[in-house]
Amino acid sequence: MALWQRARRRESEPGGMAPPAGRSRSLKRKLAIATAVGGLCTLVLAALVMARSYGDFTSARQNLYDISAYRELLEAANVLSAERGPANSVLGDPPSPNTSARERLQAFRARSDAALARLAAPPPAPFGLHNHHLPPLMVERVRERLARARAEIDELAGRPRQDRDMDEIRHAIESMFEVVDALQPAIAWQVRELSACDDGLAAPALTGRMLGDLREYGGRIASQIMAPVAARQPMPVQSLVDATRSRGRLLELWQLAGPAYNMFGAVPALEQAYADAGHQFFGQGLSMIDSLVAQGRVSGNYSMTPTELTNRYVRTLEPLERLRRVFLDEVVAHFTAARAQALRELTAACGTSALILAVLGYVLVFMQRSVILPLLRAGDEVIGLAEAREHPHYAAPAASARPAAEMRRLFDAIEILRRKLRERASLTEQLEHQARTDSLTGLLNRRALELVAAQYAAHDSASLVLIDVDRFKQINDRHGHAAGDQVLRDIAAMMRALVPPEGVLARFGGEEFALLLPHGRPGEAAALAETLRAEIASRPVFLSGSTQLCVTASFGVAIGRGGERHWQRLFGAADAAMYRAKAEGRNCVREAQREEGVAAG
Ligand code: GH3
Ligand code: MG
Ligand code: MG
Repeated sequence: MALWQRARRRESEPGGMAPPAGRSRSLKRKLAIATAVGGLCTLVLAALVMARSYGDFTSARQNLYDISAYRELLEAANVLSAERGPANSVLGDPPSPNTSARERLQAFRARSDAALARLAAPPPAPFGLHNHHLPPLMVERVRERLARARAEIDELAGRPRQDRDMDEIRHAIESMFEVVDALQPAIAWQVRELSACDDGLAAPALTGRMLGDLREYGGRIASQIMAPVAARQPMPVQSLVDATRSRGRLLELWQLAGPAYNMFGAVPALEQAYADAGHQFFGQGLSMIDSLVAQGRVSGNYSMTPTELTNRYVRTLEPLERLRRVFLDEVVAHFTAARAQALRELTAACGTSALILAVLGYVLVFMQRSVILPLLRAGDEVIGLAEAREHPHYAAPAASARPAAEMRRLFDAIEILRRKLRERASLTEQLEHQARTDSLTGLLNRRALELVAAQYAAHDSASLVLIDVDRFKQINDRHGHAAGDQVLRDIAAMMRALVPPEGVLARFGGEEFALLLPHGRPGEAAALAETLRAEIASRPVFLSGSTQLCVTASFGVAIGRGGERHWQRLFGAADAAMYRAKAEGRNCVREAQREEGVAAG
């Protein structure tokens, strides 16, 4: 780099700015930490919401499973109750093993056995749920009672009808009551278990039990008068008392069932069953019992046989049975809907959480790639422009960092700024070049030379050669100003070719040149001046029209200290030497003498 360029550079260099890499790293780290914390918080929030929804779903599943198991238990009680109907019929029939009543009894017994087998060995609970297994002893006790009651009934039914004692018949029938009674502790145990598990199950469980009891006592009242009807004997006091007690209990249960059965809102099938039960059972069924009781009080002549009673009476029990069944169906449907709702909520919670996390992740990645990183890069670029240099970290937008549309406008603006700054820099460069260059010869001008000289260290020595074209005015006068210009250009070119790289050649004035050498070796500058002089003198200048012109120049050489302070002395000495060359005949080299202020070369 030329001396004058170095000098200019030092003048214009700003203080400089700290590289932005550290700041970018800190911003990126902060963004990464904020992203991680934000993501973690959202994850925790999502986990809490999902855990809650999952808990609701599991508890809804458990409730549905529990209430379904409880319905099985009530169903078993109902089946055991229902077995009494065909058993009663058989007790009133002749001892033939092939009657339809016996076949029906076998079918009912098979149903009861299957129901008890299911209670004794329920299927394993589905994954994630727990089973409220009945204590095996409770089921075992029911089975024992049932076996005993069946044995009693079979023994009695195997005898001829006239050999069946009424008390024995009543005892056999009551032993069937005991079977259902033996199941009551299991039902109570199950209600307690369910209520402890979820108190929302208590009301439907108790109402289900109450409706089951309605069906049980509805059947029981007929069984209580069945013995005298089967034996065709007047109604004993015990039967009257039992039937009256059952009637009271039935009416009491009916009172309680009224406000309880529609706990899940109006269900047409349930409303219908309730209305039918009121009409058919409490109207016709109980009237049938009342009239048989009235007949039994008078004599043993009853208007119907046990089978007829069973067939006609069982039909009136149907709405009670339907009421219980539809209610339990409704309970199961309610808990099925609750489970489906919980599943929907769980799915919604999972979906929403996943969506929030995805959106958050997208926003963070988008912000990082399309806003933060481009912003940092834009910052780097603007700093690079401010420092009047392309930042070393600057690179064309990478594929991984696609700026958002708004950010792209910023980059466009930066690009325009960069272009304008480049244009301005180029213009400044041109102006500076013009300011330091002589337009005629292309050499440095006097100002540029003085600037270079000023940069020399004061303790360094330098040589200055001043060159003045001899009788130049005559050239102008004789050949014109353009010819004079041509001469100046040619002389400049001649000298430039001979000046060593470290020498600085300048046009100093009209037909004056100067050569500054960055050393003050005695004799060397003068020798170079002599070479230049000889070259100028020996090479004619060719003008247009084949005119040749011989030109000479006078040289003054001085050696002195460098730097701005010593420049005037150095220049003065070289100038004085040059004037001596003029005075001593021109076309010669003269070195400054001691009295001219500097050491001679
Ligand atoms: P001396 O030998 O004593 O130096 O005589 P001289 O004629 O060279 O000196 P003088 O200073 O009298 O004349 C210099 C002339 O140079 C005067 C001026 O018109 C002419 N001149 C100055 N600048 C230019 C220029 O750029 N082009 C041309 N063609 N002539 C110039
Ligand atoms: Mg002159
Ligand atoms: Mg001259």
